[in-house]
Amino acid sequence: MRVALYGASGKVGVLLRPALADAGHDVVDGREAGPADSDAAVDFTTPDAVVANVEACLAAGVPVVIGTTGFDVGAIDEAARAADVPCFYAPNFTQGAVLMMRFAEEAARVFPRAEIVELHSEAKRDAPSGTSRATAERMGTDPPIHSVRLPGLVAHQEVVFGGMGETLTIRHDTMSREAFVPGVLLALERVRDLPPGLTVGLDALL
Ligand code: NAP
Repeated sequence: MRVALYGASGKVGVLLRPALADAGHDVVDGREAGPADSDAAVDFTTPDAVVANVEACLAAGVPVVIGTTGFDVGAIDEAARAADVPCFYAPNFTQGAVLMMRFAEEAARVFPRAEIVELHSEAKRDAPSGTSRATAERMGTDPPIHSVRLPGLVAHQEVVFGGMGETLTIRHDTMSREAFVPGVLLALERVRDLPPGLTVGLDALL
């Protein structure tokens, strides 16, 4: 399908563009070409840019797969419902992070005390990360979240549980941005069949 990629020159975008092309998609730069005539769009930009990009896609009736984090999820859901267009957002497109969130949700039933440490590259603009907020929401125990931004990091998260004389740590490390590609390809394959509005989380597609 023809895909408008927003954020094509970013750290994720430069990896995604050839990967989407290798998967058989005709990729155009969303910032240059706009959403017209595209079957779907992908956005990996910034919290400031994503809303206008999605609004342009909704106005053109083009479903969007959103990877950008740190935006108002409720507002985009409302806009997508009003436009009758399906959109998809995953705070984390890696398979390991999906499992980490699932395991953390299960462990929180046994260990009510926990804290989350999320570590990302110094260029990441939003904090706490979308993944850490999604993890905390699923745990339901309102764990404190600590954010670390340093050069050398990609995307990492630890959920540390504490009990009587024991701790349990669940940790996920993204070593390369290639880890996001299979999840984005899956979301692109499925987004047009989702209900109008914003579907959140890779779990919903697995
Ligand atoms: P990045 O390297 O800063 O790239 C962002 C790109 O967006 C830049 O190339 C920037 O171009 C471009 N951009 C800015 N405004 C734009 C606009 N209005 N229209 C089109 N493009 C625009 O960031 P990144 O590491 O690739 O990450 C991008 C986003 O994805 C972040 O929010 C990050 O947290 C998120 N992310 C999510 C996942 C996930 O699994 N959900 C994984 C990794 C990253 P200029 O510099 O030329 O302005």
